[in-house]
Amino acid sequence: MRDGRGREMTDCPLCRDPGGRLLWQDDCCRLVLVDDPDYPGFCRVIWRRHAAEMSDLSATEQRHLMAVVFAAEKALRLTLRPDKINLASLGNVVPHLHWHVIPRWQDDRHFPNPVWGGEMRQPAPRRPVDVQALLAAFSGILAGGQEAE
Ligand SMILES: [Zn+2]
Repeated sequence: MRDGRGREMTDCPLCRDPGGRLLWQDDCCRLVLVDDPDYPGFCRVIWRRHAAEMSDLSATEQRHLMAVVFAAEKALRLTLRPDKINLASLGNVVPHLHWHVIPRWQDDRHFPNPVWGGEMRQPAPRRPVDVQALLAAFSGILAGGQEAE
């Protein structure tokens, strides 16, 4: 197996494991739920094959990946009503393009910093995400661009 820049990768964690609780997948990418009690609903959209940069994908692939990311964002807004959504694509460690889709609250552990930044406070406990509701919203939006509240 090679990474997005043609280097040999012998043990890639995102080829070996889903990288979270698998919620949905197709031939190109998957949606996983990150297990972080401070950030219920924290999801990642992970591209299946090795590609390091968005511009390594074809235009069709780029549109597909972003459609999945935006469906995840919208589904999180509908089910959790966070104060903000953070979208981030870093990928400095693994050669799989992936987008973090992170619901944020003004009283969460790091707000207004990124979740990887300095802690600001001890957050109040949060209710876990309703995974079935999230998945139903995500599937509906992805299938038909559903905007219903
Ligand atoms: Zn891999």
